Amino acid sequence: MRKHTFALLLLFVSLVSPFLERPNPAQPIAAAQSNIPAPEDVLGFRPGDDRKLASWAKVIEYFEKLDAASDRVKFEELGKSTMGAPFVMATISAPENLARLDDYKKIQELLADPRKLGSLSIRDRKAADLLARGKTIVLITCGIHSDEVGSYLSSMLIAHRLASSNEPEIQDILRNTIILLVPSLNPDGVDIVKNWYDKTLGTAYEGTDPPELYHKYTGHDDNRDWYAFTQVETQITVDKIHNVWHPQIVHDIHQQGEYGSRLFLPPYMQPVEPNVPKQIVAGYTELGTFMAQGMRAAGFKGVTTNSTYDAWSPSRAYSHYHGGVRILSETASCKIATPINIKFDELRPGQNYDPRKETANFGPIWHGGEWHLRDITTNMTTAAFLLLKHASQNREQWLRRFYEIGNEAVRPRRKGELQGFVIPIASRSGLTLPSTNEYRLLSILQRGGVEADRLAAPLKYRGESFEALSAIINLNQPYGAFAKAILEAQHYPDLRDSAGHPIAPYDVTAHSLSMLMGVKTVAFVEPLAYHKMKVGPTILGRFDDKEFHVALYKSSVPTMDEGWSRWSLEDQQVRYSVVRDTEIRSGKFRPGLRGIVIPDQPARTILNGYRSGTMPPELTGGLGQDGVKALREFVEDGGTLVCLNRASDFAIEQFKLPLRNVVAGLPRTEFYVPGSILRIELDTTNPIAKGMPKESIAWAEDSPVFEVLTTGSQFNVPASNVHVIGWYSRVKDPLLSGWLLGGSRIKGKAALVEVTMGKGRIILFGFRPQYRAQSLATYPLLFNALSGG
Ligand SMILES: [Zn+2]
Repeated sequence: MRKHTFALLLLFVSLVSPFLERPNPAQPIAAAQSNIPAPEDVLGFRPGDDRKLASWAKVIEYFEKLDAASDRVKFEELGKSTMGAPFVMATISAPENLARLDDYKKIQELLADPRKLGSLSIRDRKAADLLARGKTIVLITCGIHSDEVGSYLSSMLIAHRLASSNEPEIQDILRNTIILLVPSLNPDGVDIVKNWYDKTLGTAYEGTDPPELYHKYTGHDDNRDWYAFTQVETQITVDKIHNVWHPQIVHDIHQQGEYGSRLFLPPYMQPVEPNVPKQIVAGYTELGTFMAQGMRAAGFKGVTTNSTYDAWSPSRAYSHYHGGVRILSETASCKIATPINIKFDELRPGQNYDPRKETANFGPIWHGGEWHLRDITTNMTTAAFLLLKHASQNREQWLRRFYEIGNEAVRPRRKGELQGFVIPIASRSGLTLPSTNEYRLLSILQRGGVEADRLAAPLKYRGESFEALSAIINLNQPYGAFAKAILEAQHYPDLRDSAGHPIAPYDVTAHSLSMLMGVKTVAFVEPLAYHKMKVGPTILGRFDDKEFHVALYKSSVPTMDEGWSRWSLEDQQVRYSVVRDTEIRSGKFRPGLRGIVIPDQPARTILNGYRSGTMPPELTGGLGQDGVKALREFVEDGGTLVCLNRASDFAIEQFKLPLRNVVAGLPRTEFYVPGSILRIELDTTNPIAKGMPKESIAWAEDSPVFEVLTTGSQFNVPASNVHVIGWYSRVKDPLLSGWLLGGSRIKGKAALVEVTMGKGRIILFGFRPQYRAQSLATYPLLFNALSGG
């Protein structure tokens, strides 16, 4: 009997010995308490159940109860969302780690900026101690895209397992990592989507997207804001999470369309933006590959890597310029929370893979069938725990890589190497103050952790003169790569598929913020003398006439540019009203209304709205011919109609203007500009270009390019009514930053025109003058157009 017991004891020791033999055994984590609430205890259903969504209040209630019951979870509010909802984060780790969070923040701060460790000779020795003691910091962000409901629901499942499980693997994760879990980066959208879903549940419209942007101003573009930081949610995340914790790993959980792979994981498809450190590429390749292998080993099907999603833009990847890898995951969607059934032959290829063919970066094949919200949450939670396992098992390696990135960033630049940029600042009224746009750019750099200094003395450099106190951005600092990425022009590679067709970028191709803001930068290759001095606050200049008596057209089909337009108007303190399809169709405009803006949207959507039968009848129909007639009368009676980008096509077609879009219908091999910064020239004698330089920029993306038609009888107005205000140069290359194919086709063609019609006028922008609230350089064109300038 005794012997038998002893043998059992030996068996027990051998089973748990990997656990006991870990090099750094800590105290056992307190046994899971039976009173740790499960999500279903609070929600009344298990996250991932068909047709069930949780309200934001319930999510908060769950995390509060988890915090109260578990010593592994610390839950806090970090601020308020755009619409006033709590923006929250759970910090999850072993209790002894949670008791020393400030120590771990300090370790992160020192490794991120090795200058703080002292001279080069002692840095590595000091760092070795920190690498031994630090934890892998993992930020998990859910729900930035609110109709991708799987991730905010999964956040509760992830937190519950971490808080309640005593599996050795979970214990290891808790000891070796500190997990920052954001249940939603867009809390407002949780309820916008839930309310619409619940309202349409059981109707013909069940599972449709809500007919409003799920972020008040940006909609889906809320994850394109990670270098301009315009929105409060971005600011909170950067200020209170990234810049405090400098996570080595950011897991950003998304969903993609229904008909492609079941799951995407990094590595990313080409191209990689050249300022992303090689250690970041190595890190996301290793971790993504580990996760994909783990998913396949666990029996998951339809997993792809190295496809569809690129690593080109800082707009989606703050961490790539701040020492951390971004592990994007994209799980196939169902219809919000409603299951779907997909036949194998309905599956469609994406960039660099075909879900019907097994290849090195895709497989095993998923043969179709039902796809439930539960499939989504299971993919997400399994992937997240694989990520955490790697973060835990390779703790020291993650910290070392992070330290190497910091060390490389701060090293003095060699002679002849790019040293940095000067941002010339001129004296005004006896003070050296940046202009509004310079100030904005410098504030953005500062928010991104970049140190901006000031020139110690007036400088002549390569034929240019700079006043003392001009701003100087040296690149040898922890986040110099972030500054470089947004201060230089982008040269997007000319990527083609085997048939010679351009491979579309995942998003846009340019992110040169200095260009977008019209702020001059001068690169320099010799060290310059400077003062360590912060660029102080200045008074932001704004437009004088705020009462433009304008209305913004809001289509029944939500469009992000409408949201960005509202944001830009409010940011510039312009009062405006909103006018919808039904009001325009009725022809009853607010008395005194002088201008209407139609944001960027396809012409057909503006005209027709949702197709009949796809949404409730009151939302279908668009402007229709009644709306066109009412707008025409509005203009002929003296009103101004301002059309942005693709909305210009709507005006040309519907008002029979003597203009032609010369790039309409051209194949990409002939003309292609997928989100780039182009050069335009302006007639500054025209009031719309008042105050502008003769040469400026245009954000071109699905943009029309105009040619005035002098012959033809089908037009409502003669060609002499068209005034070209902005055009592409006849001689200079139109491309300033990004990617442009077929640029010679647009040389000398118009980019901004005014057409008088009756007593009023129509102003057509062949670009987006307020692109994502970044193109401050062209704001004056829009506001001059609105103010009757
Ligand atoms: Zn998404």
